[in-house]
Amino acid sequence: MAILLFAEHDNQSLSDQTAKALSAASLIGGDIDILVAGKNAGSVADAAAKLSGIRNVLLAESDALEQRLAEPTAALIVNLSGDYDTILAPATTTGKNVLPRVAALLDVMQVSDVIEVVSPDTFKRPIYAGNAIETVQTTDAIKVLTIRTTSFAAANGDNAPAPIKTIDAGSDATGLSTFLENILSKNDRPELGSAKIIVSGGRALGSAERFQQVMTPVADKLGAAIGASRAAVDAGYASNDLQVGQTGRVVAPDLYIACGISGAIQHLAGMKDSKIIVAINTDEDAPIFQVADYGIVGDLFDILPELERQL
Ligand code: FAD
Repeated sequence: MAILLFAEHDNQSLSDQTAKALSAASLIGGDIDILVAGKNAGSVADAAAKLSGIRNVLLAESDALEQRLAEPTAALIVNLSGDYDTILAPATTTGKNVLPRVAALLDVMQVSDVIEVVSPDTFKRPIYAGNAIETVQTTDAIKVLTIRTTSFAAANGDNAPAPIKTIDAGSDATGLSTFLENILSKNDRPELGSAKIIVSGGRALGSAERFQQVMTPVADKLGAAIGASRAAVDAGYASNDLQVGQTGRVVAPDLYIACGISGAIQHLAGMKDSKIIVAINTDEDAPIFQVADYGIVGDLFDILPELERQL
């Protein structure tokens, strides 16, 4: 058995999503190679080489791979696929962009959002916004998987380094896509996907100004990321990239504080794996209390300023 793990990175540092997907790969069992596709990504390869239990790091560098556009990256992975039984990646924006194309080119099905490895060919994954868990067995010769990393602990990254092999990056023969620009939102806060604490606000905040005024001081005190429900995003109280849920980000911080969020299933789908959930809501029957470890029935406009004072 040989497994190829497609690494998530920004050409400078390796994302911990890779270390988490590696834990899933280890449960499948076999020789694991990590593919670092990028440009000037030597430091990423160095970090990947120190992850536990891997055989080799394959480093492919070219202009076409710098942004990991789906077409050249998928072509590279398909070229390597003959040596592997399983190809996997974290279910990040990049992983979800590249791997379906790999699966299509290999004419196999992709198993998406794996949350549990049952055996090397059988996996569990959420469906219906996490309301049901499907067990999927694949008979494909090459298994293509994306891993929901919130379900796996990060593999240790402090081991004696595995060999780094530089491989041919191939050419971007397709020319189907071109990188134009990457516009990143500037934020001094921890990144939502990897934050240990998230303070999240819902429709109850009532306006963008109040969202800022009430949520920011608590988040500052806690060193937390700020999240939002879709209702808050749709109403313009918070920006799109803060949305947590089925159509937003899936998060699993140590602490998730839901403020004025009812707990619709689509929201729960994005945060119910959080280690500790605190809910603040005026309605004691709000569904969020069914998943909360600690519930405060009350007005968030009283409770959050008081919490900030106490902190
Ligand atoms: P509401 O449901 O209106 O809840 C507001 C809550 O605030 C209430 O429980 C109320 O009791 C409480 N409240 C009011 N005033 C106060 C106060 N002063 N203090 C404390 N509490 C107060 N939603 C998501 O969040 N993420 C998604 O990714 C997502 N994807 C979706 C995908 C689809 C296909 C669909 C159909 C829906 C999706 N939704 C998603 C929307 C979801 O169904 C809910 O509409 C949304 O989550 C509700 O947001 P909310 O809890 O902020 O608002």
